[in-house]
Amino acid sequence: MKITEEIIQAELSRCLAKARKAFLEAHWAHPFSKLTVEMLATKYGEASRDGTIRISSAFLNTPALAQLTNTLLHEIAHLIVGLKQGHNKQFRHALERLLESERLPSEALKQSIKNNTPYKYRLLAYTSAGQVLDLGGAYRRTKRYLQYKGNHSFKGIRIDRYEYVNFCSKLPELTICDENLKD
Ligand SMILES: [Zn+2]
Repeated sequence: MKITEEIIQAELSRCLAKARKAFLEAHWAHPFSKLTVEMLATKYGEASRDGTIRISSAFLNTPALAQLTNTLLHEIAHLIVGLKQGHNKQFRHALERLLESERLPSEALKQSIKNNTPYKYRLLAYTSAGQVLDLGGAYRRTKRYLQYKGNHSFKGIRIDRYEYVNFCSKLPELTICDENLKD
């Protein structure tokens, strides 16, 4: 099964029905208004004060339904408790309730979304302490890193060199990456 716009809509309807059962919508900080599917560079999804939920188009054509469900419920939890709560305890409590009896997405599913981006390259940085840093996706290679002057550091450790690799290629072991995709 591959995710389509129709599947996202259907899954949203199911998640909204579940959320409305658990939390009366009249009491939601931001009542749901609409869903859009669009390019979100480094996020699975996003919620706004006007009740809009944005879902990353990177979900399309992947089998990552369990992650889609998780993301939809995550954004709905933001609408319920209010965006100004961030990811605080109240938010986590609401989300936990919404996630009851849902499947957890596997790492492989997450990877299928991660690889489904228009990025061509990934930028890696090698520090003088022997670390490799994953600096994320890039559409093109830029001079700033191709002709690196040796004047950057990471947490006080000098960066020796940069390297562009194919975005989907396997990363060197011990690569330090910030959780690239979040909600
Ligand atoms: Zn969030």
